Amino acid sequence: MRKRDCVEIESYLVEDLRFPTSLTGDGTDAMQKSCDYSAAYVTLKTNDGQVGYGLTFTIGRGNDIVCAAVSEVASRLVGWKTADLFSAAGMGKMWNFLLGDPQLRWIGPEKGVIHIATAAVVNAAWDMWARHEQKPLWQLVAEFSPEEFVAATTFRYITDMITPAEALELLREKEAGKAERLAKLKSEGYPAYTTSVGWFGYPDEKVARLTREAIAQGFNHFKMKVGADVKMDQRRLALIRSIIDDPKECAGRPTPSPESLVGKNAGPTGSVLMIDSNQVWDVQEAVEYVKQLEDAKPWFIEEPTAPDDILGHASIRKQLKPHGIGVGKSLPVGIERGVSADENQPALATGEHAHNRMCFKQLLAAEAIDVCQIDSCRLAGINEILAVLLMSAKMGVPVCPHAGGVGLTNYVVHLSIIDYLCVSGTKERNVLEYVDHLHEHFTNPPTINSRGYYNIPSDPTEGYSIGMFEESKAAYVYPHGSYWVNDYQRERAAAIKAGIYAV
Ligand SMILES: [Mg+2]
Repeated sequence: MRKRDCVEIESYLVEDLRFPTSLTGDGTDAMQKSCDYSAAYVTLKTNDGQVGYGLTFTIGRGNDIVCAAVSEVASRLVGWKTADLFSAAGMGKMWNFLLGDPQLRWIGPEKGVIHIATAAVVNAAWDMWARHEQKPLWQLVAEFSPEEFVAATTFRYITDMITPAEALELLREKEAGKAERLAKLKSEGYPAYTTSVGWFGYPDEKVARLTREAIAQGFNHFKMKVGADVKMDQRRLALIRSIIDDPKECAGRPTPSPESLVGKNAGPTGSVLMIDSNQVWDVQEAVEYVKQLEDAKPWFIEEPTAPDDILGHASIRKQLKPHGIGVGKSLPVGIERGVSADENQPALATGEHAHNRMCFKQLLAAEAIDVCQIDSCRLAGINEILAVLLMSAKMGVPVCPHAGGVGLTNYVVHLSIIDYLCVSGTKERNVLEYVDHLHEHFTNPPTINSRGYYNIPSDPTEGYSIGMFEESKAAYVYPHGSYWVNDYQRERAAAIKAGIYAV
């Protein structure tokens, strides 16, 4: 027996990590008015010292429940030989094995706590393989042959939208030009937008200051949280618009390419504004509310209603179309779809709470979305994400992953690179969410270049870029970490006194 055949996953560690973002208002929106960004963090370990890191994101209470589920899922990988795991087909088998547990499946299936817990474990397994190969995760996948890509992808329940044979054809077509795209990516980076300027809990002065800072960082796409108070939203949107549309404020910022602005309601300086209501409205309420924000000329409205309501999203999109609230032409050049891509077609974005590929299949089939916002932990890891990338490419809908929280920003740059290199072949109209919180806790945090674009992860040892410093974990593990024991009560009292934190 070769030495490698003896290497197997021997143990795992699950940690409940929580960060006190509720004390600063970071991450707040119309639905989530108090968030403590949290991670159910798992470390897989082999008997020869290899590790794989994965996390799934929550916003505080309940993270312990997710940790319990992560333990249940991770325990099933103990004893797996790396020789069986470390291949595209091996990863495909691992995913089917984890998702096919005859008992855990009952508490999903493929949704909720058990699904996001599975994401942490699946992502950890991929991270371990990428580290083993000494390649960042995106590179590991981008170097797959089309056959390997298909072997790693789950197609169960979606073959009515895309079959493995169709996927193979699509991937083979995209092999051409891959090297040129990679060179372009390395020189330019991947386009990004910022959400950090307009959290719900921020006062106007902070919004204005952060907007100016984002312009200085090179950003020309900005997103604001809306949905709790229309007057407040109109005021804050006008405030942001007054800054981002002012040529003096934007002097010195790199000029965006015309192709990157097509149909996005860009202002005179090439700035684009998007709005996100985090599921707060009923369907008709969404239509009436968003019409009142027309003057701000948003590109898209994100998560207007319940994430499971596919037909509701389709109805909102259809009803907003005549008002030109957002835009159209969200289709990559040369790809046809069953709806016209005229300039006045409003854009609707959702997906961060779409809990599995079947939900995306329906959103796409019902022509309910213009922008597909996959989440790296809501879907059960890479295997399921590849399936959604393929469906979106087939339907001509650009993928702009959800990021933020703790760790999501680290993950998504890998996913957008895979999409650009292997699947959609375009990044001209895509923008990837960027949120500038909690990066200091990661060994390989995401970074932005002077154009406001994501830099491409290039450290061969970083895997899926989710490794954290041991000191950070020791401080923020809940409830006995040093921060929670020594500092939290004092900082909480100060935030209450300053009127930032509501008990
Ligand atoms: Mg959102």
